[in-house]
Amino acid sequence: MVVGAGPAGLAVALMLAKKGWAVSVFERSSDPAAYDPGKGFMYLIDGRGQHLLRSLGLSIFERLVTSAVAMADAKIGVLTPKGLTERVNPIKDADRKSYWIPRHAFVGYLLDAAKSCENIRLHLDADIQDIKSDANGFHIKTGDGIRSASLLVGADGYRSQVREKLEEWDGKQGRYEVKKFSSPSAGLRYKVLTLPGEFELSTPKGVEAFSSDGFYAIRGVSKTKCKQKLGLIPVSQDFGARTANLITYEDDVVWEADTVESFKSYAEEQWPHFPVEKLVPEEELKRFAENRGGRFPSPQYCPTAVWRNEGAAAILLGDALHSLPPDIGQGVNSALEDVTVLESCLDSTATSTEAVEEFQKRRLPDVEALIRIVRVAAPFQYSQAPWRGRLWNASFLSRLLLNKLLPSVP
Ligand SMILES: Cc1cc2nc3c(=O)[nH]c(=O)nc-3n(C[C@H](O)[C@H](O)[C@H](O)COP(=O)(O)OP(=O)(O)OC[C@H]3O[C@@H](n4cnc5c(N)ncnc54)[C@H](O)[C@@H]3O)c2cc1C
Repeated sequence: MVVGAGPAGLAVALMLAKKGWAVSVFERSSDPAAYDPGKGFMYLIDGRGQHLLRSLGLSIFERLVTSAVAMADAKIGVLTPKGLTERVNPIKDADRKSYWIPRHAFVGYLLDAAKSCENIRLHLDADIQDIKSDANGFHIKTGDGIRSASLLVGADGYRSQVREKLEEWDGKQGRYEVKKFSSPSAGLRYKVLTLPGEFELSTPKGVEAFSSDGFYAIRGVSKTKCKQKLGLIPVSQDFGARTANLITYEDDVVWEADTVESFKSYAEEQWPHFPVEKLVPEEELKRFAENRGGRFPSPQYCPTAVWRNEGAAAILLGDALHSLPPDIGQGVNSALEDVTVLESCLDSTATSTEAVEEFQKRRLPDVEALIRIVRVAAPFQYSQAPWRGRLWNASFLSRLLLNKLLPSVP
């Protein structure tokens, strides 16, 4: 039984079904692949994600490649009041192509594959009332009755109900309590504006075309407020729309611009070179202004990934096990890599209980390393105070230098 039909839950269901398991997936929402304009973020599927997709069946991988934008092909542009400056993306290694795809489309591809798989039973709109564990297995109670299985997968995101249950069954010793770490980007607030896929703008340099498969940073120039940029991420023109991310500190004044009129006047002052009003229909501006957005999580992980009760085993995957701010786009790839590692553990051990123990041994060191990396990789890429970013860079570089000069000093 798998709880959660996000990328981790659907991928593990497909992997187990391929091995002949009968899998039940319980998903709280009625359609996990529905487009939510407030959370319309993009996934960059890298080599690790692609490796798993290929092993699940070529059709999912091919759907990704034909409907995504390869990072290496995307140009990069910056729009300021002086005009658009463009450059070619320096990443050109064809063997290392990563692909940009909207979350809802990616989950949709996995969901379609799960729906057409006879070993997978999907329970959408599932309201899990209780989960029990005994030596015979796990028992999930929903409004439709009770279902049981010997393997339980918690792939239910960063506020995981399964993880809470493991902590409860374990006698609240803290082994399943997440360890949280600080990061300069943790807690930043974000919201997402939907824009037309392609458009043209008059700029001081002439009429410029903004193609959907390019990155664009729309620089803010306000003199009285914190400068904020809108970040446009590449998307295939087939999706017909693209998203712009606004990522700010918790208390930025943009959050007070919560009506169409107040947001329009904010946008006029912040981005006079980017006619939001002309590009975005009134209805979407209203939704965006009123949207309270979300917050980037702190880098966090659960120190114990597995639970055993005689012949029954439970395991946490994806955000239920580790969640990260999106600075280096590792959330979805690390979730998919969890599934690859679990598959390899199942292949190299005799029983599923041994496989989950092996998973704990093999996966947790990588999870801990990922948490360490995300805290230093690129946490100042948003519209944060520039002096803080410079101070942070100076501190990082001096520590790196000291480490190279005196490697034996911890
Ligand atoms: C703003 C933002 C931007 C991001 N950008 C990126 C990015 O660029 N690249 C990247 O790799 N990652 C990004 N991430 C992180 C990424 O979204 C997650 O790491 C990834 O979705 C994890 O997949 P998952 O399947 O573990 O969890 P989720 O995608 O959270 O899926 C969990 C599923 O479980 C369901 N569920 C939850 N509770 C229950 C329950 N009790 N019962 C039944 N079902 C339940 C949910 O409805 C959901 O469908 C971003 C996250 C945020 C917030």
